[in-house]
Amino acid sequence: MKKKILVIVSVAVSIFIAIFLYNAYSVPVLMYHSIARGAENSRLIVSPESFERQMRFLKKGNYHILSMDEYVALLKENKKPDKRSVVITFDDGFVDNYTDAYPVLKKYKMPATISVVPEWVGKQDMMRWEQIKELNDDELIEIVSHGLSHCPLDTLSKEFVIKELSESKRILEKKLDTVIDYFCYPCGNFNPFVKEMAKLSGYKAALATHPDAKISLNDTYAIRRIRISQSSDNMLVFWVQVSGYYTFFKDRRIKRK
Ligand SMILES: [Zn+2]
Repeated sequence: MKKKILVIVSVAVSIFIAIFLYNAYSVPVLMYHSIARGAENSRLIVSPESFERQMRFLKKGNYHILSMDEYVALLKENKKPDKRSVVITFDDGFVDNYTDAYPVLKKYKMPATISVVPEWVGKQDMMRWEQIKELNDDELIEIVSHGLSHCPLDTLSKEFVIKELSESKRILEKKLDTVIDYFCYPCGNFNPFVKEMAKLSGYKAALATHPDAKISLNDTYAIRRIRISQSSDNMLVFWVQVSGYYTFFKDRRIKRK
């Protein structure tokens, strides 16, 4: 009798854990900025060695790297991926995305999204138009808009919000001879008006950083991302960040504050 109860309890606990893990899982969307050497304690820089190690880890661990289209389709259908998945994004358009990150992504055949600020193109440490075009012509890389001037959109008047969204799209589309489907909020900042305008400007989805935990994980215009910085040099930290449970626990921590 005791044995029977023990079996029932352990089956019930296993089912509970499986349901919990299924519900808590969300595809981690990684947010990189610059891949460079030498900077101490920057939240925006990961060394080329660490980046290569992280990509190798994902490759060896058989993680499935999703393109933005694949990821957004999952969100819209409210589906979980078949296997452990990750989305890779870069912000701002640093030239080292072209010189240091791209060769690694190509080597491991990993799709990635790079957000670009038209007014920053060609400036010091940033990519030039021909480099951005070369990346966008490779099916692995998707260029998206990061606003015209990188001004946080929630600080601007309605007129300028619309300009940042639509002008950046128009310029990128003309320069790259393509359709720009996605937007990435500068500094991750947005409000309901900005979101609505991103939709009306023709973007299919928008990347944020870590919005209010009350915002649905399936909101395609407030996509949560996980910042990869020097603390992720520690592979245990990186492993937790790509586990699919990092966002769930971070949301709980923010709610408690
Ligand atoms: Zn940025």
